[in-house]
Amino acid sequence: MPEEKGLLIVYTGPGKGKTTCALGTAFRAVGQGLRVLMVQFIKGSWHYGELDAAKMLGDDKMEIRPMGRGFVKVGGAETDPEDLRLCQEAWEFGRAQIDGRKYDLVVLDEINYVISYGMLDPEKVVKALAERPERVHVICTGRNAHPKLVELADLVTEMREVKHPYTKGILAQRGIDY
Ligand code: ATP
Ligand code: MG
Repeated sequence: MPEEKGLLIVYTGPGKGKTTCALGTAFRAVGQGLRVLMVQFIKGSWHYGELDAAKMLGDDKMEIRPMGRGFVKVGGAETDPEDLRLCQEAWEFGRAQIDGRKYDLVVLDEINYVISYGMLDPEKVVKALAERPERVHVICTGRNAHPKLVELADLVTEMREVKHPYTKGILAQRGIDY
């Protein structure tokens, strides 16, 4: 048996596929009997297909926690204190779940955004992830991954946009985008 080591994985870049890549990994992990948690930092209002798919698998296999409410204004003085509070709450929850060893894989969905918006301290996140239990895999998604997170990570993939239907005016499609 190969040695088990929790990986720190980052999916970033401007192209589509960061969250879906994390979900694909989660699907694979569940098949191997791993327990998965996804904490969503921004999502909260829209209903994504993966929420129902995770329920079909069962909470004991895969759980998704939308802990945001979607942002209207972000960054600097315009950040709504309520979004800031939800963001801190999502981080504290995610960190506790990672340290609690209940899950084998924890996805911090869109955490890169909230760090780049200045809503979460990158030093604090990097320190906690560096000190996490050794066997726990963590995936961080979102554009503009912080350089310190990239440095700590074992695997970093940057999605590059080659084409996106949005540029042709085609809007989000059910089952593909949500
Ligand atoms: P997905 O959840 O589809 O994997 P993502 O996580 O890579 O996308 P996000 O930055 O989280 O992308 O964006 C979320 C939404 O924006 C999705 O509905 C996605 O389809 C859309 N989107 C992603 N990339 C692009 C792009 N390059 N141009 C326009 N819209 C995009
Ligand atoms: Mg995403």
